[in-house]
Amino acid sequence: MKALVLKEYKKFAYEEVPQPEPGPDDVLVAVKACGICGSDVHGMDGSTGRRRPPIIMGHEASGVIAGAGAAVKGWATGDRVTFDSTIYCGYCEFCRSGSINLCENRRVLGVSCEEYRQHGAFADYVVVPQRILYRLPEGLGFEQAALVEPFAIALHAARRSPPKLNDTVVVIGAGMIGIALVQALSRAGCGRLIAVDMVDDRLERASQLGATHVVNSAKQDALEAILGLTEGKGADLCFEAVGVAATVDLALRCLKKGGAVTLVGNVAPKIEFPLQVAVTRELSIFGSCASKGEYPACLDMLARGALKAEPLLSATAPLREGPSWFERLYRHENGLLKVILVP
Ligand SMILES: [Zn+2]
Ligand SMILES: [Zn+2]
Repeated sequence: MKALVLKEYKKFAYEEVPQPEPGPDDVLVAVKACGICGSDVHGMDGSTGRRRPPIIMGHEASGVIAGAGAAVKGWATGDRVTFDSTIYCGYCEFCRSGSINLCENRRVLGVSCEEYRQHGAFADYVVVPQRILYRLPEGLGFEQAALVEPFAIALHAARRSPPKLNDTVVVIGAGMIGIALVQALSRAGCGRLIAVDMVDDRLERASQLGATHVVNSAKQDALEAILGLTEGKGADLCFEAVGVAATVDLALRCLKKGGAVTLVGNVAPKIEFPLQVAVTRELSIFGSCASKGEYPACLDMLARGALKAEPLLSATAPLREGPSWFERLYRHENGLLKVILVP
């Protein structure tokens, strides 16, 4: 089969590789669409240590079942599917309590690090265990389905600290996850939904997809603006989808006393933290990692149009053109959000 292989840092080859063989519990999926994730772009230069060459990246994908192991039940050749980006083990303490996102033995598709190498979906075929498969609803296209992962992350975060009816909610960062959060939260009963970013195009998209107010933090004091929208009290909830010191600081300071922040972004490994703001205003702080069980709800909402993937799709290109798209994303070409590669 053909695959896009990261041969060495920042060097790809679109080349012939052996087709993977499904084990007893696995299915072989003929990939129809696979999104380039920010973590692939960050990882390709070696800076994260999680894309060690040689590796076939790609964990946001959809396709059609092309083969199955002997123990696979309930799936047939030709079924349209997507799958979790994470392969959880199913037997550790966390998996057994339902927290599959916290699995002790988790492997992410398309990742190679010190502990493992798990080839992903920038290829004609990928093998995944049946327990991470999800059926695509009728009418949901492969490209939209390839975007289910960021929506699942957003739904999971929204469930960590769900808004109450008419709450004022702030979303910081209007990239993939931020926009998915805006969409999810706007369906969850917020009153005011305030999106904060430094790029007008992104804020424009946020307002089209459910934000009631937008704040460009490059052009105005974001804290002042949020306090101005909340009679000086602050917001009930904030979701932080950037993960650097300045935005986490804003996320805590923009809250009402007793409010809650959910941290999703984690670009910086550590940051300076406004301790006294958190303590004296009695804030609740949640971390949110990946998703656990939100895929079916996201697929259903995408199929019904309650969540919209199209506004996040920048381009669809053949897999063989992958290297140039990685290059453009690496250079932070303006306006590019999600690029889908098609084998
Ligand atoms: Zn990803
Ligand atoms: Zn586990």
